[in-house]
Amino acid sequence: MTAFPSEVASWTAAQIYSGLREKQISAAEIATAALAFAQAENPKTNAYLEFCGERAMATARTVDQQLAAGKDPGPLAGVPVAIKDVIMTRGVRSSCGSRLLERFVPPYDATAVERLERAGALLLGKTNCDEFAMGSSNENSAFGPVRNPHDPERVPGGSSGGSAACVAQGTAVVSLGSDTGGSIRQPASFCGVVGVTPTYGRVSRYGLAAFASSLDHIGPFGRSVHDAALVLQAIAGRDEHDATSSAAPVPDYLAALGRDVKGKRIGLPKEYFEGLPTETGDLIARGVETLKKLGCEVREISLPNTEYAVPCYYVIATAEASSNLARYDGVRYTIRARDANTLAAMYRATRGQGFGDECKRRIMLGTYVLSHGYYDAYYVKAQRVRSLIARDFAQAFENVDAIVAPVSPSPAFKLGEKTGDPMEMYLSDIYTITGDLAGVPCMSVPCGNTPAGLPVGMQIFTRHFDEAGMLELAAAFERAGVSG
Ligand code: GLN
Repeated sequence: MTAFPSEVASWTAAQIYSGLREKQISAAEIATAALAFAQAENPKTNAYLEFCGERAMATARTVDQQLAAGKDPGPLAGVPVAIKDVIMTRGVRSSCGSRLLERFVPPYDATAVERLERAGALLLGKTNCDEFAMGSSNENSAFGPVRNPHDPERVPGGSSGGSAACVAQGTAVVSLGSDTGGSIRQPASFCGVVGVTPTYGRVSRYGLAAFASSLDHIGPFGRSVHDAALVLQAIAGRDEHDATSSAAPVPDYLAALGRDVKGKRIGLPKEYFEGLPTETGDLIARGVETLKKLGCEVREISLPNTEYAVPCYYVIATAEASSNLARYDGVRYTIRARDANTLAAMYRATRGQGFGDECKRRIMLGTYVLSHGYYDAYYVKAQRVRSLIARDFAQAFENVDAIVAPVSPSPAFKLGEKTGDPMEMYLSDIYTITGDLAGVPCMSVPCGNTPAGLPVGMQIFTRHFDEAGMLELAAAFERAGVSG
C-alpha cells in the first residue's frame, strides 16, 4: 500500500476515496491540511473570497464517524470542494461578486451544494467571480480580479474564474461554477482544467442567483474528467425546488469513462475554425488527430447560424438579467444606501452605488430591448434566432455523435487587456454561447499548452442529456495524452 500523497495540490478524488477507506488518512486531517494550504496559497490568485473552515470540519467529523461505524460516507467523502459565490451556501456569505451583497448570508443551501455535502464533500469556501456572473475575465468582481495560476499577469477567464483557478492551483480538488454563456468552459480552458456545462435542466438551479434564467447552468470543474464526472453524478437529477429541472434518469457517468470511442462520429463545425488564430488552431488540430487515432470518424459539418449567436445572446441574456436584477433594491437582501429621502431615491442610490459598470450596462441594454417598440425588433427576433441555433445543433446531431471545436479564440489574455472594450470582451464568447442557447451539454477538456505555456481547452458538445457520451469521449482523449 502506497502512502497517502503529502502534496495537497495534487490530490484526486480517487486517492481520497481509497485513502479514507484504507485508513491512511482521516477526513478531519484532509480538511485541516486542505484549508491550511488554500488559505496560505490564496493571496497568489485571490480565487477564494471566503473560507468556511468550521463547516468543512463538521462534515469531516461526520465522515470519520460514518467510516468508524462501518457506514458508507458517500462517493465524495472527504473531497475538498469550492463553490462559486453566485451559488447559495447557508450561513456562509454569498456575495455574487457584488458590493450590493457584500453582507448577504443566505438562510439556505443551493440544491447542488446540499447534494455535494450529502455525498460527503468538504466545503472549503466561496470563490471569486464576475459580478452576478457577468463577464469573461473575472475583472468585473467587486472584490478584485483573480490571477491565472499559470501566469499571474493574465486573467483566469470568467465568470467562474475563481472556481477554475482554485482547481488549477490545487487549493480545491473540485469546484462548482455556473455557465450562462461560457463561464465554466472558458475559464476551464484558460486555467487548464476540465469544466462541464450539463444539459439545461440536468442540474437544479435552485439557489443559483439568477442571471439569465433560461440560460443558467451549474456545473463542475476538476483536474480530471473522472473528478468532474463524480461531481456531476452527485448533483444531477430532478429537484422539486426547480420546475425546469429534468426528471430524466441520471445514468452512471463513471461507467462511461473507460469505454472505447472507436467509430464515434465527430463533427467539426467549419464556422468555428474560420479565422481561428493559429496558436489555438494548431492545438485543436492536434487534438483532432488524437481523436482520429482513437478510431473516431471525423467530418466537417456546418452550424450555419453561428454568426448570430453573440448578438442573440446579448439580447436574451440582458433582457432576462434586467428583470432578475430588479430584486436588488435596498429593501431585500442588499445593503441600503443612506441619505435618500424617498423610496425611489433610495432604490436609485442603492442600485447606483451597489452595481458595477457591467451590471449597469446590461440592465440598460436589457431594459431597452424589452421596452415597448423595441420588443419585437430585438427580443422576439433574438428568440427566433435562438430557435435556429438550436435547430442547427439538432440537425448536426442527426449525423454525428459529438461536435468538437475550440472553446475560445485565444488563450488567457492579460489583465486589463480587454476591459476598455466591452464589445471585444463579448466577442471572446463566440464559441461557447451557442451551447447555452441550444441547451446542449458541452465541456472543455485540456488540449495542451501554447509555446508560451498557456493552456488551451478543446470543446465537446453532445445531444441533450448525453453527458455520458461527452464524458466518455473526453476521458478517452485525456487517457491518450495531449501530445497524442
Ligand atoms: N461571458 C459571458 C457574459 O459575460 C458569459 C457569462 C456566463 O456564462 N455567466 O455574459
